[in-house]
Amino acid sequence: MSYVITLIPGDGIGPEITRAATKVIAAAGVKVDWDIQLAGLTAIEKFKDPLPRGVIDSISTNKIALKGPLTTPVGSGFRSVNVALRKEFELYSNLRPAKSFEGVKSRYDKVDLVIVRENTEEFYSGIEHYVDSRKSAAETIGIVTRTGSERIIRFAFDYAVNHGRKKVTIVHKANILKYTSGLFLEIGRNMAKNYPQLEVNDKIIDNMAMQMVINPNQFDVIVTTNLFGDILSDLASGLVGGLGVAPGANIGYDTAIFEAVHGSAPDIAGKNIANPAAVILASAMMLRHMGESSAASRIENAVAGVIKEGRKVTTDLNPASPVTTDEMAEAIIEKL
Ligand code: NAD
Repeated sequence: MSYVITLIPGDGIGPEITRAATKVIAAAGVKVDWDIQLAGLTAIEKFKDPLPRGVIDSISTNKIALKGPLTTPVGSGFRSVNVALRKEFELYSNLRPAKSFEGVKSRYDKVDLVIVRENTEEFYSGIEHYVDSRKSAAETIGIVTRTGSERIIRFAFDYAVNHGRKKVTIVHKANILKYTSGLFLEIGRNMAKNYPQLEVNDKIIDNMAMQMVINPNQFDVIVTTNLFGDILSDLASGLVGGLGVAPGANIGYDTAIFEAVHGSAPDIAGKNIANPAAVILASAMMLRHMGESSAASRIENAVAGVIKEGRKVTTDLNPASPVTTDEMAEAIIEKL
């Protein structure tokens, strides 16, 4: 059987690391016809549009995409293509596992937690403006809906049950944001009653950030609103040794887009030195989502094996090893 999957190589290091990922998937024995689509800065250069219609049409048809990172200008310029894609396909769930790898220098070992971040609402709704032309004040409106909260919290609870996880922590700021965060927490506490097999607790975001730094092993699955989830998932990546090994998935009702957590790393683009592990691990998440669990596990084990040995890894993981992106991908393929 051959799958058709949309591939967005992306900006910066995107083309280098996604090329590595496609080679690893092929080596794992999963046949894919890649429907290659340009988005972001690369698409502006070619089509004068960061999100050409062809990208939307391709993902609408294939329902599944692997995406390299896309550059988003800071402060001004075009709006984030990542946010636009999440909205277009209602990819309401952002799933970011943070797992320790032997061989990656980090403050903790044996961290194994999953952050489930609401991906479409609150401060990322895009409702923002200056109050006047002098920019004397600015407003960003965060909208949290009952439907949006119910579906993400249900996703987190179901994910925990289906993946043998024991505990879910609901993260909020309901002491101050009594309406938006208050609604999210109320829905979470009520829904928890339907999942007696799970231990469910809740934490205020500021305390949560401290608790994760002090003892991340006390957490299992974490579910939270968009902005808190964005920040906590990078914090979690930091706990396990950085962005180089952090994959992510954006999942909706019938469509899913898989990517690395890190960005387009313009400082190292085109040098063949970017670490391909995060996007390769995102590919493994994608294969598992497609039902190709055995290939997914083999890829994850191969990545873990290469990282543990520490010889064929890029410089971000081992400063003494001048291994290229392609060489690290080859080492992973050999391990397969
Ligand atoms: P970044 O993740 O691109 O880079 C941060 C640092 O980590 C840099 O020093 C970079 O060299 C390093 N790094 C990142 N990935 C690496 C890898 N695979 N191997 C080795 N080193 C790696 O973050 P940034 O610099 O804040 O953002 C750059 C651009 O990426 C921005 O335009 C931002 O909007 C965009 N971005 C996109 C996504 C996405 O598409 N999902 C996510 C985050 C940032």
